[in-house]
Amino acid sequence: MTSSATVRIMSAEEIAARGGGDTVFLRFPERATLFAEREMRLRQLAGAGHALGDYLGFMADLVHEQQRALQSMPAVPLPGAEAVDRAARDGVPLLPAADWPRDMAWRDLARRMAAALLPRAPEGGRDVLRRLAEADDVYLERQADLLLNGLATGLDMAAAPLLGGTLQVYWTHLLLSVQAAHQGQGSPFGRIDDETACPCCGSRPTASITRTSGESLGQRYLHCSLCNLEWHMVRGKCPHCLSTQSLAYQSLDLADAVGEDSASRATAAKVQAETCDDCGHYLKIAHTDRDPFVDPVADDLASLTLDLLVAETGKQRHGVNFMLLFGAPEPLLEDESPPGKR
Ligand SMILES: [Zn+2]
Ligand SMILES: [Zn+2]
Repeated sequence: MTSSATVRIMSAEEIAARGGGDTVFLRFPERATLFAEREMRLRQLAGAGHALGDYLGFMADLVHEQQRALQSMPAVPLPGAEAVDRAARDGVPLLPAADWPRDMAWRDLARRMAAALLPRAPEGGRDVLRRLAEADDVYLERQADLLLNGLATGLDMAAAPLLGGTLQVYWTHLLLSVQAAHQGQGSPFGRIDDETACPCCGSRPTASITRTSGESLGQRYLHCSLCNLEWHMVRGKCPHCLSTQSLAYQSLDLADAVGEDSASRATAAKVQAETCDDCGHYLKIAHTDRDPFVDPVADDLASLTLDLLVAETGKQRHGVNFMLLFGAPEPLLEDESPPGKR
């Protein structure tokens, strides 16, 4: 049985005082390496005798297809100058997950990725991939609506990782295409009114990640679950309710983790749950200063034991991970709380 270790953390002011230099507000994903690095991390975690090794290995195959797809996406319609101005003026996401008119390119990609994965899929996953390779437009659009609005009723859980993975490719492509189209004119992406939501698409984060660049030591970024954009939020602030009063960190107690596989223990030291007593939610935080290869999505998947532990204390998960939708602790999806619409 694993026990928990809870420690109080420094106040936001103490942390701010220790930081230095200018902090970049947004960190954009790299088209050439984003999913390739995630695949590498998943294989590293899967290969170390992890209890979920087979699952992590199959997700690595899926992420491999995401990288191939991201580098060969066709041009898709982008928002015009008027839409850019309007989003900036209203302080809302430019490419909102819930409302953006999706191009049909994502549906073709979903079918192609399912077909490509089929030969490598474990026996239990082949039926759903066969189904997805032939899925019709109505089904795909309906499932995308449910996924992107955080609705559990009617969601095809077995299909969610592949469809979520396809939508990630499409939205990351949108984000990078819009950014590239505005090169030299200033980025159309910036702060929006709701600092808990992704400034590009309004989605919830998968996890926090700490990053050090130049003189900015250990800055906390929220990693978008859909478009892979990262936005800065000061440490010591709850990413769900913005309270700075009742935060604590929880992690797996290494001393008590003897008997668990070594990979789970190694992951535990690099990933913590930041819990908030004010709103009862938690979000994981992965530390690049403890391991430069941590990836918000991969390390979130590999630290499911931590979710089970925090769930015992009654805290609810704030992070969204499409690859974790099936077999995830409840409640992962909240019907009353679509992303970006709280
Ligand atoms: Zn986003
Ligand atoms: Zn909170």
